[in-house]
This record gives sequence, C-alpha cells and structure tokens, in this order.
Amino acid sequence: MIKKNDHIGIAVKDLDAQVVFYRDILGLEFHGYEELPDRGLKVGIFIVNDIRIELLQSISSDSAIGQFIEKKGEGIHHIAFYSDSVQAELDRLKAAGVKLIDETPKPGAEGMKIAFLHPKSTFRVLLELCQK
Ligand code: ZN
Repeated sequence: MIKKNDHIGIAVKDLDAQVVFYRDILGLEFHGYEELPDRGLKVGIFIVNDIRIELLQSISSDSAIGQFIEKKGEGIHHIAFYSDSVQAELDRLKAAGVKLIDETPKPGAEGMKIAFLHPKSTFRVLLELCQK
C-alpha cells in the first residue's frame, strides 16, 4: 500500500553547485552525499519535513540520469512514494495493467528498496516506489 510521498529526484549536472544553492541559499537541511556506483550516481540528500530532495548527478556515461540530462536537460526526474511492500505494490499494479520498469525492487539510496513504473503508464511522470 502507498503510504506517503517519500522523495523527489532531481537530475543535476553539477551536484556541488546545486548543494550550495539548496543548502546556503534556500537554507534546507543537508543530509549528506551518497554514491551509488552500480547505478552510476552520486546523490546529494536534503530533508524538508520528512520528504527528501535527492539531487542526482551521473558519474558514469551510461547512467539513466546521464541519458535523461542529455535528452531533456536538468530538472525534476521522478517522484517517489513510500510503500510498506514494494513487491506487493508492483504485483498489484502489474495485474491492473500498469507497465513496470522494474519487476522486482533494486537497491536505492539510504538502503531503500526501489522500483520504477513506466512513464507510458503514468501519464509521462516517472514514479518510483520505495521501502526501507
Ligand atoms: Zn528516487
């Protein structure tokens, strides 16, 4: 079951410059950096109330974020909802005819299990499901 909005993922070219903007100019609470080498990402994490803002910078030429920036430029990449069981939610949505990018959850930032729904089934918004 989807419980709440968890985070917003933003594709960025220059993570350090954007961290300065979000931390020093907007004044948001900076939670730190995390590298996800298997997804080709370096992430800067901010928290506003209990919703995270994840700034996503590509660190490998074939990462999904690198390809996104090449096609569409920087900006909002995805919105993530927290679920108490990502796999159960994927199974339910698939049975309802929703196209999935991930049939099973994969590792995300902060030890989360994550999975993406296909934008073709979500009116072109990339939606992620995540779970601790
Ligand atoms: Zn995410």
